[in-house]
Amino acid sequence: MSELKNRIKSLSKSLGIDMIGFAGTNRFCNAPDGRHPRDVLPGCKTVIVFGIRLLDGVTQANFRAFEDGRNDLKSIYATYGYTMVPNFEAAYACYAIARFIENNSSGIATPCSTGPMTNGFQISIRHAAVAAGLGEFGYLGIVITPEFGPRIRFGAILTTSEIEADPMYAGPRLCKPKQCGICAKVCPTGAVGMPGEKEMRRVEIDGKEYEYSAVNFPKCRKALQAMTKSLGGKEDYLTESDPGAEDILEAERRMPTDGKGLQHIPTWNCGRCQTYCPVGNWGEKFKKTGLSKGAATVFINEKL
Ligand code: SF4
Ligand code: SF4
Repeated sequence: MSELKNRIKSLSKSLGIDMIGFAGTNRFCNAPDGRHPRDVLPGCKTVIVFGIRLLDGVTQANFRAFEDGRNDLKSIYATYGYTMVPNFEAAYACYAIARFIENNSSGIATPCSTGPMTNGFQISIRHAAVAAGLGEFGYLGIVITPEFGPRIRFGAILTTSEIEADPMYAGPRLCKPKQCGICAKVCPTGAVGMPGEKEMRRVEIDGKEYEYSAVNFPKCRKALQAMTKSLGGKEDYLTESDPGAEDILEAERRMPTDGKGLQHIPTWNCGRCQTYCPVGNWGEKFKKTGLSKGAATVFINEKL
């Protein structure tokens, strides 16, 4: 392993990063226009992706909300699991690693912005995480890792330094949607859709093919932003059961923006799919410990 790679890995440990991987830009040849690493950093040779796991004590706040009706505890997830701290932590870590590369090599390093606190994204961090060997796509459309399932946040750094790539994940399939389908069963709006009934997205990275559900984002946002009373909102800001992007924007305009803390439009009101995905020792961490009564307690769709 090159000295630079070794030192970046040591730095990542000191920053509290749980996983880190390296990918060559050849793994991004199918990226859409404008989203290839070299479209962001001309001359980019390596994409570094790291993951910071969510605390189990933060995930369990979601169980209290979904299973015990403690919606007030969703603010713990909002702060420490979703929009706030993990994204700032990832942003600071991206910056620290990029600074380290520029200060210790002749390479240029560009930290990518992270998470929903940002107003745009540069490359697809999900695809980069798979390319860097951190996990595979789960049916729910986000990356699942063997150790932490989907309960992890990622950050990425682009650099012109050429650093040896890690192998992509080649362990046993983590997600078998037809046998599992929990993310679809717990989804309150049908945004994920039942396996076999849903349009799929397909992607090829370095010769490996992946597919995941084409999640209906307007339906998902309806739940994330609690746009109806049945989803925890104060009013029915949205009446369409199958909203389009314009309907969501219109509902957002109707929603009050005061008293919501730093993030005026809340986006943390759901997360059931990520919370109940069984990958990442879910049973040991949450069922056996009594922190959750199990995904079946919140099944909405029982078609499987
Ligand atoms: S966050 Fe909620 S609404 Fe969105 S896909 Fe997951 S379970 Fe469905
Ligand atoms: S909940 Fe099940 S089907 Fe959904 S992503 Fe996780 S393992 Fe796959």
